[in-house]
Amino acid sequence: MAIQPARVPGLPENIVVKRSTRRRKSVSASVENGVTVVVIPQRMTNAQARDYALELHERIAKRQARRSKKTDADLEARALQLRTRYLPTNPLPTSVMWSARQQQRWGSCTPADGTIRLSDRLKTMPDYVLDYVLIHELVHLVVNDHGAEFEKLVSMFPEYEKARAYLSGFEAGQAQQHRPE
Ligand SMILES: [Zn+2]
Repeated sequence: MAIQPARVPGLPENIVVKRSTRRRKSVSASVENGVTVVVIPQRMTNAQARDYALELHERIAKRQARRSKKTDADLEARALQLRTRYLPTNPLPTSVMWSARQQQRWGSCTPADGTIRLSDRLKTMPDYVLDYVLIHELVHLVVNDHGAEFEKLVSMFPEYEKARAYLSGFEAGQAQQHRPE
């Protein structure tokens, strides 16, 4: 095979490096299902690979954020739209923001002050997945656990099952990548 996945230490879960025997110098990157895939020449060192991968990932993420207008203000506007459409009796959040720190969770909500934070890993994922996480956190403004009341409210969003399947598939993929050989 000409292109094979490589194990490069020091990269976050959403960046995957592949080595190509056909490449001499060129490095390329693309986003597949929320994961940045960086193809590098076979002979590049791990340290070089890590630097290139991080730089390309950053560049792509910025470009995508600009193109899709995924700023904090856009996120908040989207949350308000979703709330009006699917959870009209739900309280309004006081603020909705992206967070670069949430690497273990997709989102969080603080009912006491009405704030919602979403992991910026969601920026590169399909819109219905982002919408689902917003709905999930909006419901947490009024329901703490994931019980029957929570399920009833979340299911107002038609694509909730599809989004959950996407996220659990993504997490399973990550776990597999991290499995020691
Ligand atoms: Zn939850």
